[in-house]
Amino acid sequence: MSNLIFSVADILDHPGRRRDIVVAAPVPEAGVGLARLSDKPVEAELCAQSVVEGVLVTGRLWGSAGADCARCARPVPLDIVLELCELFVEPGHELADEAYELTGTDIDLEPVFRDALTLSLPLNPLCDSACKGLCPHCGRDLNEGECSCHPESSDLRWAPLEELKVKLSQASGEGST
Ligand SMILES: [Zn+2]
Ligand SMILES: [Zn+2]
Repeated sequence: MSNLIFSVADILDHPGRRRDIVVAAPVPEAGVGLARLSDKPVEAELCAQSVVEGVLVTGRLWGSAGADCARCARPVPLDIVLELCELFVEPGHELADEAYELTGTDIDLEPVFRDALTLSLPLNPLCDSACKGLCPHCGRDLNEGECSCHPESSDLRWAPLEELKVKLSQASGEGST
């Protein structure tokens, strides 16, 4: 059972009536890919207003999330501030596809928060736009300095020549014995 359910019985069907909703509650299961919401509660200062179609919820939401850098896997803290403007309508209403549904005379803000937070999280989080990432060979964090793989990888171009040298030296070695 969501603890983000609020009764709007006092304003429903009285277009123009409004009431404030101030919330601080965790929103479970908000996350996408490398980013997810922190365990800290989400805070919101909202206004629920009765409109002809149902109830319009507007206001601001604050949350914090964490992500792993897509290049180096370092933790990336994310502070989220969102403006919300969402409509709740009776089930079966012609706007039901684009809106959230009232549950009797209640609104459940949990799916609203989860959808908005999930959409706000970056799909490709980076600790810094200049992050150098990890060396694909040794896994070293290249933000902390170069690794020793680079000379080796450039040596690969000379590998056939090295092999030839070894063969030649073996051949000449065999010849001398
Ligand atoms: Zn990074
Ligand atoms: Zn390396």
